[in-house]
Amino acid sequence: MTVEAHKETLGFQTEVKQLLQLMIHSLYSNKEIFLRELISNASDACDKLRFEALSDDALWEGDNELKIRVSFDKDARTITLRDNGIGMSRQEVIDNIGTIAKSGTRQFFESLTGDQAKDAHLIGQFGVGFYSAFIIADKVTLTTRRAGVGAEHAVRWESAGLGDYTLETVEQAGRGTEVVLHLREGEDEFLDGWRLRNIIRKYSDHITLPIVMEKERYGEEEKEQAPEDETVNQASALWARARSEVSEEEYKEFYKHVAHDFEDPLLWSHNRVEGKLEYTSLLYIPQRAPFDLWDRERHHGIKLYVRRVFIMEDAEKLMPTYLRFVRGVIDSNDLPLNVSREILQHSKVIDSMRGGSVKKVLGMLEDLAKNDAEKYQNFWNEFGRVLKEGPGEDFANREQIGKLLRFATTHTDSSEQTVALADYIGRMKEGQEAIYYITADTFAAAKNSPHLEIFRKKGIEVLLLSDRVDEWLVSSLTEFDGKPLKSVTKGALDLGKLEDEEEKKAQEKVADDFKDLVAKVQETLGDKVKEVRITHRLTSSPACLVAGEHDMSANLERILKQAGQKVGGSKPILELNPEHPLVLRLKAEGAGARFGDWVSILFDQALLAEGGQLDDPAAFVQRLNQLLLELR
Ligand code: ADP
Ligand code: MG
Repeated sequence: MTVEAHKETLGFQTEVKQLLQLMIHSLYSNKEIFLRELISNASDACDKLRFEALSDDALWEGDNELKIRVSFDKDARTITLRDNGIGMSRQEVIDNIGTIAKSGTRQFFESLTGDQAKDAHLIGQFGVGFYSAFIIADKVTLTTRRAGVGAEHAVRWESAGLGDYTLETVEQAGRGTEVVLHLREGEDEFLDGWRLRNIIRKYSDHITLPIVMEKERYGEEEKEQAPEDETVNQASALWARARSEVSEEEYKEFYKHVAHDFEDPLLWSHNRVEGKLEYTSLLYIPQRAPFDLWDRERHHGIKLYVRRVFIMEDAEKLMPTYLRFVRGVIDSNDLPLNVSREILQHSKVIDSMRGGSVKKVLGMLEDLAKNDAEKYQNFWNEFGRVLKEGPGEDFANREQIGKLLRFATTHTDSSEQTVALADYIGRMKEGQEAIYYITADTFAAAKNSPHLEIFRKKGIEVLLLSDRVDEWLVSSLTEFDGKPLKSVTKGALDLGKLEDEEEKKAQEKVADDFKDLVAKVQETLGDKVKEVRITHRLTSSPACLVAGEHDMSANLERILKQAGQKVGGSKPILELNPEHPLVLRLKAEGAGARFGDWVSILFDQALLAEGGQLDDPAAFVQRLNQLLLELR
């Protein structure tokens, strides 16, 4: 079959151009990592081949020795990497190399300031993989053929890393990918076998395939003395080694490969489990949340191996969703090599490995919280909102997860979430039985809510919850350490033993005094409210709204509405502060002409104060203006 010479030029996605610029600028001081990234990709490609070949033997094409080859050419000023992995089809090249498929891409670019120095540290978080080749190369040629007998022709991709790239159909006997880097002026330091071997040992020693430095291409007359091909790395599975035999640096470099991260991990845990089940896990917690943390279809979680053979990427069954930030490998001795995703769905082995691994992760976080509060706080700031999904998803571990939670509270009034439930319990007042919380749309709305007035007066701490996930959290974490969690915006205020008998009697008397007013207000508001009553939870506001004991909180109702869900629309209870001058005046003046307006305004104000939206804002403004005019 002849191949038509067909070469087309395609433009990079706009983001790719921006990314290349930023990357060359910011990674320049650490440019040798280009080799780590390209080797990491070659290794992934070989893993993928091995996995696909489990169900399609033909993919091997008679060549079973997976290998990564590195060579350089002093005269041509090129470095070449070759792998006999899965390769790419034409479309895959376009999708993988011409575009950035990460779902957080747009947000990432929005978060950039345009100041390259400031943005430089962000690039590490994004990870740029293949494009790091352009740090040292002003032209990159990638030739690749997808594995499989009779697979389509190979394709050659070439780019100077500016605005576009070319694609051309070519012939290539072996499957896999070859990347040729045409070095920039002044990068000749990399045309040196000793230097390249050192870089490989430093960053890629953990790669489980042999990385072979090919007989170096010296000038013609020197070739005689050149060393033979040489495997540079240890090529053994790092996690299969004893802990004492793995250095900190090796753990870190391995992390960067499995997690596709440019930064060091925050912490890790390496375990061998023996007994009924045998497996090894090496689990990492990243320092920073990736941009696609909120994308539930994201990739790169836990890699599953069976007896050191790679089985699959992103084995989602191995970690629950609320721990989706964990990276690493789990290597089982019990699963069959030809395990499929379907088998994994119902595997007892997987279930127990997962249970054990979850315990490991929670334990590792608990230790961190105990031993290094500052580092733990960093973790919390990055991943806390994900961990808050835990009690809902993982009921069995909810007490342990509860220990890891951190909150903003009225104790500090800071939006930083630093208070553990144990700290809260340690500060509970004599006679306090519940852990009080308030949920609101924003931190400011929670912190300034009228519902907190009595709690502030009595010095009772309240958790200030304003993350979206918090409503979900408190619906599943209904108690901690034997203490119920109680919303301050639901039900009648019951401070239990925090109030003495005398106080309670006085309150009853006041309620009795205001009976007529309450009835009249109720009549005026009609079916806008479920009930009107006198409260003593307010000290400076005239009124507030609360939800019935068993109703949905107003905040949750708003969240669901915003998400487009139909909600029942349970009616609020209006509570009046009997000590407030406005309420006292209402009571004294009785049914003046403006009674209805006053009551409406009180109600609307209370709704606004808790972050709600008025049904008829214009009417509110009109009433208010009318009253202001009468003030003269
Ligand atoms: P990442 O490795 O994090 O996915 P990269 O930028 O390093 O990001 O690579 C982008 C994609 O290009 C890879 O996910 C893979 O699909 C493809 N790719 C890169 N190098 C190779 C290779 N040597 N063989 C096959 N596919 C590759
Ligand atoms: Mg990569």
